[in-house]
Amino acid sequence: MTTENELLARIPTDLYVGGGWRSASTGARFDVIDPSTGEPIASVADASPEDGEAALAAAHEAQRAWSRTPPRERAELLRRAFELVTERADDFALVMTLEMGKTLAESRGEVAYGAEFLRWFSEEAVRISGRYSTAPDGRNRLLVTKRPVGPSLFITPWNFPLAMATRKIAPALAAGCTSVLKPAALTPLTALLFADVLHEAGIPAGVVNVIPTTRAGAVTGPLIADSRLRKLSFTGSTEVGRRLIADAAPQVLRVSMELGGNAPLIVFDDADLDQAVDGAMLAKLRNGGEACTAANRFIVHEAIAEEFTARLVERMSAHTVGRGTDAASRIGPLVDAATRHKVQQLVDGAVSEGARVALGGAPLDGPGYFYPPTVLVDVPAHSGILREEIFGPVAPIVTFSTEDEAISLANATEYGLVAYVFTRDLDRGLRIAEELEVGMLGLNAGVISNPAAPFGGVKQSGLGREGGFEGIEEYLETQYIGISDPQATKP
Ligand code: NAD
Repeated sequence: MTTENELLARIPTDLYVGGGWRSASTGARFDVIDPSTGEPIASVADASPEDGEAALAAAHEAQRAWSRTPPRERAELLRRAFELVTERADDFALVMTLEMGKTLAESRGEVAYGAEFLRWFSEEAVRISGRYSTAPDGRNRLLVTKRPVGPSLFITPWNFPLAMATRKIAPALAAGCTSVLKPAALTPLTALLFADVLHEAGIPAGVVNVIPTTRAGAVTGPLIADSRLRKLSFTGSTEVGRRLIADAAPQVLRVSMELGGNAPLIVFDDADLDQAVDGAMLAKLRNGGEACTAANRFIVHEAIAEEFTARLVERMSAHTVGRGTDAASRIGPLVDAATRHKVQQLVDGAVSEGARVALGGAPLDGPGYFYPPTVLVDVPAHSGILREEIFGPVAPIVTFSTEDEAISLANATEYGLVAYVFTRDLDRGLRIAEELEVGMLGLNAGVISNPAAPFGGVKQSGLGREGGFEGIEEYLETQYIGISDPQATKP
C-alpha cells in the first residue's frame, strides 16, 4: 500500500501543455477509480475546451522547429524515452494496474510492448526517404519527398493506457509531427506519467501535450474543426470512430482509426489441440479479455468441439480472479461497472437464446468489478454475443463441419481486425487467410501484436496501420517535385 501511495504521490496530476504543468482553466478535477475496489485513488485536472485550444496552439507553435530537428536528434530523444520507460517499468506497471485493473504481469507485458514502439520508431526516424527518377518519356525528372503531416490529435482508450499512446506518439515524433494526446478519462495517470518521462527525456516544449478530460467531445470537437490540426488518430470503439470520421470531414482531415474487433478463433480437426488451447487462452484472457484483438467467437470443428471445450473449461477455471496487485491473481477486475454490466447482458442474452453455461456466467459478489472466466456452448449463430465485442473473459463456442462453413461464420461480422486459425495444414491456413476479411491473422498463434508489424483492421475495424514500416507513413505527406530535363540545357 505504501508503495502504491508513494507512486501515486509522484505522478503529476495536472495538464501537460507547452512543456509545463498547469491546472485546468476552470480549476475542475475528476477522480480516478481503482476498479478492484470502486474507490478513488487520485484526482486529475479536467481539461476544458480552452485548455484543448492551448494544447493545439502549443503543438502548432512547436511544429516548424520539430520538423526541422535532424532525424538523428529526434531518433535519440525517442531512444532516450524508450530507456526511461524501461527503467521505470515497475512504476508504469503498477499505475496501470491501479487505474485499469489488469494484473501486474499483464501490465509489465504492456510496458515492454508499449516501450518497444519508442525504440522501433527511433530506428525508423532516420530511414524516411524519397526517390529521384527519370520520367518514362526520358525528359522530366521526378523527385518524390516525404514530409511530416503536422500537428496531430490522439484520442486513446483505457484498455492499453501506455501502448495506445506510444503507438501513436512514437511514429508521429519520428516523422516530425507534434501532438496533443487526450487519454481515456478512466486511465489518465499512465499518460501523465508518460508525459513526465518524455519531459525528462528532453522532448522539446509543445511537441507532446497531454490533456485528460471528462468532456471528450467538447474538448476535441473544436480541435478537429481547427485548420491548425492536420491529423487525427483514434483508437476506440467503432461507434465513436464513425462520429469522429464525420467530424473530420469538413476539414478533410487525415484520419487513422483503430476501432473495434470481433475476432473469430477457428480450430480445425487437424489442429494440435494443446497448441490450440494455449492459443485460445492467450487470445481470450490476455488483458482480461478487454482487448480489441480478443477472441470473441470460438468456431470449433464438431469432431473436436467436446474435447476442446473440456480442456478450455479446465484451463480457464484454474485462473484465479483477484486484485491485479496480488501475486496469485491471473485475472483482475473489469474496468468499470458499465463494462461489467454489458458483459453480463451479453451472457444473459445468449443464455436466453439457448446457449449453455459451461463455466462462470455471473459477476462475483463484493466490491470491485470482478467477472469470472466464462465459457458458453451451443451458442446459436444469430446470438448477439457473436455480433458484439464482449470485452470480458467470456468464450462463446459454436461448431462447424466444413471449411466453407467456418469461413462464412468468421466473416459474418461488420468487423475485420484479426482472426486466429489453428490447423496443422499450412495450405489450409494460407487458403483461409486469403478468404478471411481481416487486417491481421494469427496462424497457430494466439497473440500476434508486435511493434515491428502493421497493426490494423479492414471493414469497420478501421483505417490505416500502426507499427511496422507502415506506421510512420500515417504521419508523412508525399510531395512530388517535377523537374525539367537537366540534359536539355547542356551547353
Ligand atoms: P471509446 O470509443 O468509448 O473511447 C475511446 C476514446 O474516445 C476515449 O479517450 C474516450 O474518452 C474518447 N471519446 C469518447 N467519445 C468521444 C467523442 N464524442 N469525441 C471524442 N472523443 C471521444 O472506447 P473505449 O471504451 O475507451 O475502448 C474500448 C474500445 O476501443 C473497444 O471498441 C476496442 O475494440 C477499441 N480498441 C481498438 C484497438 C485497435 O487498435 N483497433 C485497440 C484498443 C482498443
